[in-house]
Amino acid sequence: MRPDILNPLFADVETLPGVGPRLAKAFERLAGPRVVDLCWHLPSGIIDRGYTPKVMEAEPGRVATVTVEVGAHEPPRSPRAPYRVRCFDDSGALDLVFFHAKGPYLQKILPVGEMRVVSGKVEHYHGLPQMTHPDHVAPPEERQSVAGVEPVYPLTAGLTPKMVAKAVRAALSRAPDLPEWQDAAYLCQQGWQAWRESLLAAHKPQSEQELLASAPPRQRLAYDELLSSQLALALVRRQQVRLKGRAIQGDGHLREKALAALPFELTGSQRHAVAEILGEMGSANRMLRLLQGDVGSGKTVVALLAMLTAVEAGFQAALMAPTEILARQHFATIQPLAESAGVEVLLLTGRDKGKARARALERIAGGEVALVVGTHALFQEDVSFRDLGIAVIDEQHRFGVHQRMSLQSKGRGVDVLVMTATPIPRTLMLTSYGDMETSRLTEKPAGRQPVDTRAVSLDRLNEVVEGVGRAIARGQQVFWVCPLVAESETSEVAAAEERYAALKLRFGERVALVHGKMKAAEKDRAMAAFRDGEADLLVATTVIEVGVDVPAATVMVIEHAERFGLAQLHQLRGRIGRGSERSSCILLYQGPLGETAKSRLNVLRETDDGFRIAEEDLRLRGAGELLGTRQSGFPDSRLADLAEHEDLLAAARDDARLILERDPELSTPRGQALRVLLYLFERDAAVRYLRSG
Ligand code: ADP
Ligand code: MG
Repeated sequence: MRPDILNPLFADVETLPGVGPRLAKAFERLAGPRVVDLCWHLPSGIIDRGYTPKVMEAEPGRVATVTVEVGAHEPPRSPRAPYRVRCFDDSGALDLVFFHAKGPYLQKILPVGEMRVVSGKVEHYHGLPQMTHPDHVAPPEERQSVAGVEPVYPLTAGLTPKMVAKAVRAALSRAPDLPEWQDAAYLCQQGWQAWRESLLAAHKPQSEQELLASAPPRQRLAYDELLSSQLALALVRRQQVRLKGRAIQGDGHLREKALAALPFELTGSQRHAVAEILGEMGSANRMLRLLQGDVGSGKTVVALLAMLTAVEAGFQAALMAPTEILARQHFATIQPLAESAGVEVLLLTGRDKGKARARALERIAGGEVALVVGTHALFQEDVSFRDLGIAVIDEQHRFGVHQRMSLQSKGRGVDVLVMTATPIPRTLMLTSYGDMETSRLTEKPAGRQPVDTRAVSLDRLNEVVEGVGRAIARGQQVFWVCPLVAESETSEVAAAEERYAALKLRFGERVALVHGKMKAAEKDRAMAAFRDGEADLLVATTVIEVGVDVPAATVMVIEHAERFGLAQLHQLRGRIGRGSERSSCILLYQGPLGETAKSRLNVLRETDDGFRIAEEDLRLRGAGELLGTRQSGFPDSRLADLAEHEDLLAAARDDARLILERDPELSTPRGQALRVLLYLFERDAAVRYLRSG
């Protein structure tokens, strides 16, 4: 249970003054749904309002804070003219200018005859100083607080700088004093302040310097975050070592039958990976292994062979995919092969309800089925196995670490194989997977052709559509991927529907649509139509990103490619080039492109090597963005910037190890404080591995 002291931080943003349901939505997009998320929303700039000249001396174009007397209000004479408020000090006059102003409001904040502190850019208009839409209008007693250095926050649609600054201030006022979890000597040596002081200071930068990752308050917060994730990983790891594994050794009879049913030979990489995996399964250690391989490198077969080995040894095996579509696809791939080995496969997804589900659960619990494929429905508490030997988790970046743990907790000492198509740069490997063993599929199955990748401006959309028409006429199949819309899934779907309608006008009925908001059955129908060649063109949002396998598809158009991450584009592109036909990928971009965007698209044109692409992505975007979404299985990095704080990461790793050596159950006073730290960064799952956690 989260300690009470943290409750104010984990309240909804809506509990902040002035934040209603609509603003709460905007804040959620900006930072997150809770007060703590706003605390982690650090300023990206500053405005220095410390320049306090007389009105006549104010430099044009520079932000100034002046103290004036309000002279007269001049409402606009025509609707388009601005509302003016004449003010002055002893050096001269200053007009405050407001467009679309509300008179009564202005009269309230700028009463005639009174002194006011106003801050904003002074400009000269017909030789007279004026200030358009001052950022601040305050009574003289607030002069001190206005004329300081003001933090500037990243924004999102629907929020003004003032709203964000105000909400962040309110969020910070909820920040409690927390017990110190850092080592006193280390704090002293680094010159760091307590957590709350550091948080407040990070939000009050006095210079550009203080915005840098190297500023002490930011370092302290980054270190807190890194220490929490390293400590959580260390706890998870310790738990894994404590749970003894079992030696799972098959006799190969099922594997051989499945191999004989394969229409191809395994690649050298696949054989090597299978050997590594079987070797580890056969030992008494628990396996916790990552199988990395680009899209299309053939991970599924490797997983199947591992699972069949468990079945040979009398265990059950489960494969879990992140989406319904993928679970079904794995099922479709695995079922015929398993069947030729005489092994039944059961599919369990969120769609199985009521009696059917109950029956499936019975068969799993009773051990009637040995091989189960599913979605996160497999995590549900009521799912229990008779004797689960191995859990294979596909595309793990979509799952959290605790989900990974929860599947393996469905058996005693379950071996775990995590498959990922996202090549993970080395630095990130360490932080998110700790010392997980890895097998890599570096070879592509024979006969694959590199995908011809081109970047084309959206201005040339018509030409691209014509090109697609020619490809279809030649009997090729085409994916059309619609853009990500950061702000809302609804507009993403709208964009896809619009494109679908337009392409249908051009190409007729043989166009299918699939997006995340569709009903599962509709999605299946669209996917099936495309797979079976009944549709030539599939318009899709990124739901097709991972895994979807249609070897006959040879063309992919990605709209607004500049909005996607590199790794994501690489994943998408991996959907084509799977057959022996030459494939092409067209990255439609909205120009003009910035330098970074250009380099990113270039990387994709130049290479097909997922690992190189991942490294470039890290370099061009920074780890923060790569780690990105909260849903990703990577530890969220809100405060630490792995490119900047690498040394802190190393220190945090050593620190975590030392802490657990000295205080294994976190029971000393510092240990108790460290528990608070774990909850602060939402490592609740890790705390459960502590006695009396
Ligand atoms: P991944 O999951 O790594 O993206 P898959 O396991 O889905 O890749 O395999 C992609 C495709 O390649 C599938 O159609 C699969 O049958 C095929 N495949 C796998 N291994 C080989 C191989 N050794 N030779 C030829 N084709 C292969
Ligand atoms: Mg796959």
